[in-house]
Amino acid sequence: MIHVKHFQGNDMHEFKVIIVGGGHAGCEAAAAAARLGVSTALITQNVQRIGELSCNPAIGGLGKGHLVREIDALDGCMARVADRAGIQFRVLNRSKGPAVRGPRAQMDRSLYRAFMQEMLYDLPHLRILEGEVDDLLLEGDCVCGVELVDGTCLSCRSVVITTGTFLNGRIFRGSEVFSAGRLGDKAAGGLSKRFYALGLKMGRLKTGTPPRLDRGSIDFSVLERQEGDREPEAFSFLSDVPGVEQVPCHICHTNEQTHEIISKNLNLSAMYSGLIEGEGPRYCPSIEQKIVRFSDRNRHQIFLEPEGLDSNWIYPNGVSTSLPVEVQEDFVHTVPGLEKAVVVQPGYAVEYDYVNPQELNKDLGLKAVQGLYLAGQINGTTGYEEAGAQGLLAGANAALAVKDQEPLILSRTNSYLGVLVDDLTSRGVSEPYRMFTSRAEFRLFLRADNADQRLTPVGVAKGLVSDERRRHQELRAEALARGRELLETHQCTPDQARRSGIEINSDGRRRSAFVMLSYPDVAVDDILSIWPELVDIEPEILQQLAVDARYEPYIQRQAEDVAAVLRDEGIRIPPRLSYDGLPGLSHEMVEKLNAVRPSCIADAQRIEGMTPAAILIVLAAVKRHDKGNGRLAGKSKEPSESVRNAG
Ligand code: FAD
Repeated sequence: MIHVKHFQGNDMHEFKVIIVGGGHAGCEAAAAAARLGVSTALITQNVQRIGELSCNPAIGGLGKGHLVREIDALDGCMARVADRAGIQFRVLNRSKGPAVRGPRAQMDRSLYRAFMQEMLYDLPHLRILEGEVDDLLLEGDCVCGVELVDGTCLSCRSVVITTGTFLNGRIFRGSEVFSAGRLGDKAAGGLSKRFYALGLKMGRLKTGTPPRLDRGSIDFSVLERQEGDREPEAFSFLSDVPGVEQVPCHICHTNEQTHEIISKNLNLSAMYSGLIEGEGPRYCPSIEQKIVRFSDRNRHQIFLEPEGLDSNWIYPNGVSTSLPVEVQEDFVHTVPGLEKAVVVQPGYAVEYDYVNPQELNKDLGLKAVQGLYLAGQINGTTGYEEAGAQGLLAGANAALAVKDQEPLILSRTNSYLGVLVDDLTSRGVSEPYRMFTSRAEFRLFLRADNADQRLTPVGVAKGLVSDERRRHQELRAEALARGRELLETHQCTPDQARRSGIEINSDGRRRSAFVMLSYPDVAVDDILSIWPELVDIEPEILQQLAVDARYEPYIQRQAEDVAAVLRDEGIRIPPRLSYDGLPGLSHEMVEKLNAVRPSCIADAQRIEGMTPAAILIVLAAVKRHDKGNGRLAGKSKEPSESVRNAG
């Protein structure tokens, strides 16, 4: 049953945590806070659009699929919803190593929304309210509630803002410009004003979407068909897939004629006419940008993705544009198969305010306002998965703060979520940030296949994970441990291996089945041919152990680097530490440290241009602070020679 409250009066309601926005960050934030047993309200402009996939009808992909698995490992919603609403599942990069494979699935847009809403409405501690938040209620530097556009005030102890592309959102199509958060939804301005008034560093970013096409007007007979995987792989560690009928996608290509039309009309594209100031996503460029940037290419691929089982709309992935509608139609018609395609909704670009994520601590709480958390596109990221992952973390931390418990802080060494937050908070963004496997230095360990083993215990320790998931992870961990022990105790000499057709160094050394699985040309079947009794290990567990074995030598080699990062992340820098006048620290370093206000030594090290000598000075200051020797020895005028003007 759906409980929606439309606010009318000036009545005051009380919640412990309020989440603003029902997009991907908002859904995960609300669910995480509610899972922690804290009374939570999710306030969003339009409850029917909770869980809306604003752009492409797909979840996952390279790097992004890892985030979905991590959300799932922490008992978030996205993976389970995507498994139920998925209409085509494919693991990307299947031919490459497991560390860089990316689970991805096409979504039925309306099923995704419906299943997400169903999951949220089922949560006992969550109320879903329709309304627009216009301002924050503050007491000193603490947030204590929100005010809606109709004047209703709601009090609470923590607020999570997840307003996506809506803050001062402006839509552009050719010379048309109008205010909107996305097509069909009004922009929100009040919160932006508040953020500016708080003195937060803000900026403008942009993103775009392609025209949608009518399915019946496309000639699929001339197009390449792309099926999903024969054995679809679920996102969630708890689901089986598929839940609904599976359908193909199709592939077509732009050509020289398409490029000519676009080039000729570049001056009419909002992006090129100077109307848009914000920086766009480098890795999801518009078709205009592709043609300018890759002028030597005479064609670009377009994936025709169905928007749903009962939908007539097709999403042409690869041609996002802000050209005028007539030009969009013209260039679409040059593509073989799309000669008669009817544009049912033109593409557009949207520009919006974001908050520089360097304003945030690692728990995604603002440094300047206690109890106020930000997650999703508002922090300069792009993508549902990046938003969902941040939402989960911010929602959990908003609730943990209310419960006076230590925050959930993830590390670069244990998760992509840790990498994401660390990149955002220590480096900031100058263009929309999206996740890639290459951003994670420990990616051989941070695999999609082991997200539950890495993170579910962390979630259990925080009370964020259901009993069902805890039991599932524990059973799997036990099966992995038992399987590994079996693999380690089954050993053979090189001669014995050779008799089963496996060539290894004739050094007389006995090797375990686990060690042999770490060799690139030894497969599970080879091991089973030597020791048929190992077939008793469940196939899924055996496959997982084979992946673990393959990466084990590399992970062991990285162990020292991981330990160093963990050590430096463990050295917290007091939030009010003064860098001004620290002996030996150059003016430039003081400026940088003051701008970023790193929360730990690892953060300080990642500041652009930071030198080892400057880090030593900060470390010494932290130690002096920790010993309680006054408010830091930043007063002395005489720096020691060894650290003079470090930086
Ligand atoms: P959203 O999903 O935008 O959700 C924000 C929610 O907040 C909405 O429900 C809104 O109604 C609500 N809200 C806003 N203000 C208020 C308020 N004051 N009070 C109450 N509720 C409020 N991602 C990609 O990865 N690649 C792309 O190419 C891409 N292109 C895009 C193109 C367009 C036109 C748009 C709009 C988005 C695009 N995205 C793309 C981004 C993707 O949609 C977002 O990254 C993702 O939806 C962000 O999730 P979020 O939860 O931060 O915000």
